[in-house]
Amino acid sequence: MSDCIFCKIIAKQIPSEFIYEDDKCVAFKDINPKAKTHLLLVPRKHIASVAHMDNEDLALMGHLIYTAKLLGEKNNLPHYNLQFNVGKGAGQEVFHVHMHLMSSAS
Ligand code: AMP
Ligand code: ZN
Repeated sequence: MSDCIFCKIIAKQIPSEFIYEDDKCVAFKDINPKAKTHLLLVPRKHIASVAHMDNEDLALMGHLIYTAKLLGEKNNLPHYNLQFNVGKGAGQEVFHVHMHLMSSAS
Protein backbone atom coordinates (compact mmCIF):
# COMPACT_ATOMS: atom_id res chain seq x y z
CA MET A 1 0.00 0.00 0.00
CA SER A 2 1.81 3.10 -1.23
CA ASP A 3 0.11 5.57 1.14
CA CYS A 4 0.51 3.46 4.29
CA ILE A 5 3.05 4.75 6.81
CA PHE A 6 3.78 1.29 8.24
CA CYS A 7 4.27 -0.20 4.75
CA LYS A 8 6.76 2.65 4.16
CA ILE A 9 8.58 1.88 7.44
CA ILE A 10 8.73 -1.83 6.53
CA ALA A 11 10.05 -0.94 3.05
CA LYS A 12 12.63 1.36 4.77
CA GLN A 13 11.29 4.39 2.88
CA ILE A 14 10.83 6.06 6.28
CA PRO A 15 13.69 5.64 8.76
CA SER A 16 12.90 3.59 11.83
CA GLU A 17 14.98 1.29 13.97
CA PHE A 18 13.66 -2.25 14.08
CA ILE A 19 14.25 -3.85 17.46
CA TYR A 20 13.17 -7.16 15.92
CA GLU A 21 12.41 -8.43 12.42
CA ASP A 22 11.80 -11.70 10.68
CA ASP A 23 10.20 -12.78 7.42
CA LYS A 24 6.67 -12.18 8.74
CA CYS A 25 6.82 -9.13 11.04
CA VAL A 26 8.82 -6.23 12.40
CA ALA A 27 8.85 -4.49 15.79
CA PHE A 28 9.85 -0.93 16.60
CA LYS A 29 9.37 1.63 19.35
CA ASP A 30 6.22 3.71 19.28
CA ILE A 31 7.11 7.31 18.35
CA ASN A 32 4.71 8.63 21.01
CA PRO A 33 5.08 6.15 23.89
CA LYS A 34 2.16 5.79 26.29
CA ALA A 35 4.09 3.50 28.66
CA LYS A 36 7.70 3.10 29.83
CA THR A 37 8.07 0.36 27.24
CA HIS A 38 5.85 0.80 24.20
CA LEU A 39 6.58 -1.32 21.15
CA LEU A 40 4.58 -1.91 17.99
CA LEU A 41 4.53 -5.33 16.36
CA VAL A 42 3.58 -5.08 12.72
CA PRO A 43 3.09 -7.84 10.14
CA ARG A 44 4.84 -7.21 6.83
CA LYS A 45 1.55 -8.01 5.09
CA HIS A 46 -0.76 -5.02 4.78
CA ILE A 47 -4.01 -5.82 6.56
CA ALA A 48 -5.99 -2.68 7.46
CA SER A 49 -7.14 -3.85 10.90
CA VAL A 50 -8.20 -6.92 12.87
CA ALA A 51 -11.63 -6.35 11.31
CA HIS A 52 -10.04 -6.94 7.89
CA MET A 53 -8.36 -10.24 8.84
CA ASP A 54 -9.01 -13.35 6.78
CA ASN A 55 -8.96 -16.98 7.75
CA GLU A 56 -5.57 -17.22 6.04
CA ASP A 57 -4.13 -14.65 8.50
CA LEU A 58 -4.65 -16.77 11.63
CA ALA A 59 -1.09 -18.15 11.76
CA LEU A 60 0.34 -14.71 11.06
CA MET A 61 -1.55 -13.13 13.96
CA GLY A 62 -0.54 -16.02 16.22
CA HIS A 63 3.05 -15.38 15.17
CA LEU A 64 2.66 -11.73 16.22
CA ILE A 65 1.51 -12.74 19.72
CA TYR A 66 4.30 -15.30 20.05
CA THR A 67 6.83 -12.66 18.96
CA ALA A 68 5.50 -10.38 21.71
CA LYS A 69 6.14 -13.16 24.21
CA LEU A 70 9.75 -13.52 22.95
CA LEU A 71 10.31 -9.75 23.11
CA GLY A 72 8.87 -9.70 26.63
CA GLU A 73 11.43 -12.34 27.64
CA LYS A 74 14.29 -10.67 25.76
CA ASN A 75 13.57 -7.34 27.47
CA ASN A 76 13.02 -8.96 30.88
CA LEU A 77 9.51 -7.56 31.12
CA PRO A 78 7.72 -9.21 34.06
CA HIS A 79 4.32 -7.99 32.83
CA TYR A 80 2.86 -6.18 29.84
CA ASN A 81 -0.32 -5.42 27.95
CA LEU A 82 -0.98 -6.41 24.35
CA GLN A 83 -3.53 -4.25 22.58
CA PHE A 84 -5.17 -3.93 19.19
CA ASN A 85 -7.21 -0.82 18.46
CA VAL A 86 -9.85 -1.75 15.92
CA GLY A 87 -11.56 1.13 14.12
CA LYS A 88 -11.41 4.92 14.43
CA GLY A 89 -13.88 4.94 17.33
CA ALA A 90 -11.48 2.72 19.30
CA GLY A 91 -8.57 5.07 18.63
CA GLN A 92 -7.02 3.34 15.61
CA GLU A 93 -4.95 5.93 13.73
CA VAL A 94 -2.82 3.76 11.46
CA PHE A 95 -4.78 1.38 9.26
CA HIS A 96 -2.11 -1.29 8.94
CA VAL A 97 -2.79 -3.85 11.63
CA HIS A 98 -0.40 -3.67 14.59
CA MET A 99 -0.23 -4.84 18.16
CA HIS A 100 0.85 -2.52 20.95
CA LEU A 101 3.13 -4.06 23.58
CA MET A 102 3.07 -1.76 26.58
CA SER A 103 4.66 -2.20 29.97
CA SER A 104 5.25 -0.08 33.06
CA ALA A 105 8.52 -2.00 33.29
CA SER A 106 11.55 -1.28 31.16
P1 AMP B 1 -3.18 3.08 16.70
O1 AMP B 1 -3.79 4.26 17.41
O2 AMP B 1 -3.51 1.77 17.33
O3 AMP B 1 -3.45 3.11 15.22
O4 AMP B 1 -1.62 3.24 16.92
C1 AMP B 1 -0.78 3.88 16.03
C2 AMP B 1 0.49 4.13 16.77
O5 AMP B 1 1.52 4.36 15.84
C3 AMP B 1 0.43 5.35 17.69
O6 AMP B 1 0.69 4.96 19.04
C4 AMP B 1 1.53 6.26 17.13
O7 AMP B 1 2.25 6.93 18.15
C5 AMP B 1 2.41 5.28 16.38
N1 AMP B 1 3.17 5.84 15.26
C6 AMP B 1 2.71 6.61 14.25
N2 AMP B 1 3.70 6.89 13.38
C7 AMP B 1 4.82 6.27 13.85
C8 AMP B 1 6.17 6.17 13.40
N3 AMP B 1 6.60 6.79 12.28
N4 AMP B 1 7.04 5.45 14.14
C9 AMP B 1 6.64 4.83 15.27
N5 AMP B 1 5.38 4.88 15.73
C10 AMP B 1 4.48 5.59 15.05
ZN1 ZN C 1 0.47 -0.98 5.22
